[in-house]
Amino acid sequence: MNNKIKSIVSNHYRIPLAEVLYDAKHGKHTHFELITVEITLESNLTGLGYTYTGGKGGSAIHRLLVDDLAPVLVGQEADKVEQLWKMLNWHVHFVGRGGVTSFAIAALDIALWDLRAKSEQLPLWKLLGGNQTEVQAYAGLIDLNYSMEREQEVIAEKLEQGYRGIKIKVGLDDLERDIQRTRSIRNLIPSDIKFMVDANMKWNVQDAIWIGKAMEDLSVTWFEEPTLPDDFAAFQSIGEQIQIPLAQGENLHTLFEFQAALQTNVLQFPQPDVGTIGGITPWLHAAKLCADRDLMVSSHGMHEMHVSLLAGVPNPGYLEVHSFPIDQYMLHAFQFSNGTARPPDVIGHGVVFDQNKLFSFLLEN
Ligand SMILES: [Mg+2]
Repeated sequence: MNNKIKSIVSNHYRIPLAEVLYDAKHGKHTHFELITVEITLESNLTGLGYTYTGGKGGSAIHRLLVDDLAPVLVGQEADKVEQLWKMLNWHVHFVGRGGVTSFAIAALDIALWDLRAKSEQLPLWKLLGGNQTEVQAYAGLIDLNYSMEREQEVIAEKLEQGYRGIKIKVGLDDLERDIQRTRSIRNLIPSDIKFMVDANMKWNVQDAIWIGKAMEDLSVTWFEEPTLPDDFAAFQSIGEQIQIPLAQGENLHTLFEFQAALQTNVLQFPQPDVGTIGGITPWLHAAKLCADRDLMVSSHGMHEMHVSLLAGVPNPGYLEVHSFPIDQYMLHAFQFSNGTARPPDVIGHGVVFDQNKLFSFLLEN
């Protein structure tokens, strides 16, 4: 088969959320963005890749793809996925090493893996060697602005849908109010349902430890992003002084950042995000780094894609079913019931967007 890349088309969509969602440091979410790429080979086989944002930065990612990354990929052999990942990273190294460059490279890398799986006529998770058809999944709420009534309504809905784990946002400005709110919400969730909290980088070491200790009787499965993601010394200090296990990953945008977080020895629930760490190639490395430490690998965001990655590795942890409803714009429905998600039995990664639904959110190229 002719594996040479013939053309690449990138699109940028800005999609409104059904309600305004708040967390501690990203603040208000009114939209999310999808930045897609479609790679076409000389053989006319096509691969789809994408990344996302919380509503900001999508234009920069899109321009980087169109102006700098796609042009160097056209004409290359698509099956050399790992080599191409390195080449793309070196191409924008000076302005990159993480940040928006990792988001842009992720979109292309995911498309190349889609092509690899399609060439092999396999679903992605089977191509990766996976044999588990079920992945533990939990609901990741973005609820810091919810009234207690809305909180109650949403939690009841998630329990009704079969979720066996719920993550809430924490991080109000007032520490006392924050812990009171967390306690009230904990009372809404049955004790056999996993309960996680996510501070979205809100605190310094002292405040994070105060909150961490104050939550110790609430059966918290993990405390996510208590402080700045790349202040590894602060993260370590917090982890060493509280009982609740720590989580992070969505803001680790290079493999070296991810490795540094693991080296603190207090990251017990690592959550690499395929859309923000640079694609499937580095995500698989990250999963292996976790396995080397006898840790499960969990995920952040992009549940419709991570379900295949978690099903494909030997050490799957928890799939976050994120509040950005990317899966609602897909042709194949996201499969979830009774606390578990199932990877799609479709050749390739199985994420195919419904252009009729996305069309009206397309921005000018
Ligand atoms: Mg988070």
